[in-house]
Amino acid sequence: MKTQLEGIMNQARELIAKAADIEALNELRVRFLGKKGEITSILRGMGGLSPEERPVLGKLVNELRDQVELLIEEKLTELKLGNKARRLKEETLDVTLPGRVRQVGHLHLLTQVMNEIKEIFLGMGFEIVEGPEVELDYYNFEALNIPKDHPARDMQDTFYIDTEVLLRTHTSPVQARVYEARVPQIPLRILAPGKVYRCDDDATHSPMFQQVEGFVIDRQISLADLKGTLLAFARQMFGQEREIRLRPGFFPFTEPSAEVDVSCMMCGGKGCRTCSHTGWLEILGSGLVHPRVLEMAGYDPEQVSGFAFGMGVERIAMLKYGVDDLRLFFENDLRFLRQF
Ligand SMILES: [Zn+2]
Repeated sequence: MKTQLEGIMNQARELIAKAADIEALNELRVRFLGKKGEITSILRGMGGLSPEERPVLGKLVNELRDQVELLIEEKLTELKLGNKARRLKEETLDVTLPGRVRQVGHLHLLTQVMNEIKEIFLGMGFEIVEGPEVELDYYNFEALNIPKDHPARDMQDTFYIDTEVLLRTHTSPVQARVYEARVPQIPLRILAPGKVYRCDDDATHSPMFQQVEGFVIDRQISLADLKGTLLAFARQMFGQEREIRLRPGFFPFTEPSAEVDVSCMMCGGKGCRTCSHTGWLEILGSGLVHPRVLEMAGYDPEQVSGFAFGMGVERIAMLKYGVDDLRLFFENDLRFLRQF
């Protein structure tokens, strides 16, 4: 019996020493020490021994088991260290390699331009107010002097949720909402930025675009205030040498209404392809708030007046950065977006 134990010990020592990896070592652990392992089986076979022999053999077997366990643990440590050493060797750090540059994104050009517009008007004392994109027909049209049969509705065809609920076609409904909440407060200096929707889709029109509406209500507000404010905006946005001009225009909620042009930043007003050789670029629509709108809002048009303007953020961005197709903004092509 003792010889048998020595045989197992020699075999175990040899096999454990040769174990190539942790997996092989685990197999040896099962083979010798497992429930059906070679050493455990000897203990089970002790039934045939005399009462005197049993404790002697039991002691020997336990010693054998302890030794094999120790060998396995030692080998395990050795294998683990070997793995670590090999990894260290393979993963040597080469400090001469160029670093990996992480790609960091940035704000979309339209967001940058929107932020710039907001900053300019905040600097002039405007307050930013936002309104819902899903809007009632009442605020989008009627409260702005555009009744149901008004032809101006044709120019602003939109997406209807039902007959009274639609996706707003401009940010002007914020005007109506602010009046409702604030009248008779004066002065009001409000900037309303946000997304608007129309049934349009081509190189210069998108079914969704961004607008900024601004309006001021106070005593004795005149076209001079409007022009001064917009000139200050145009110069901060497009350069201090810019000029603006007001041309007669039509909007149902302003009277008089004016289209506002800025002197072309490409040619300095001399005339080029961008400005169709006129020297001017249209940037926004504006006017004095229609007395009927003031009246509907609850102001006395004899006592207060105001101006309002609305501009497309995409158009401002296209002019400032020379982008010739509106759709580029929405295609998410990094080659385009990374330029700004
Ligand atoms: Zn030009």
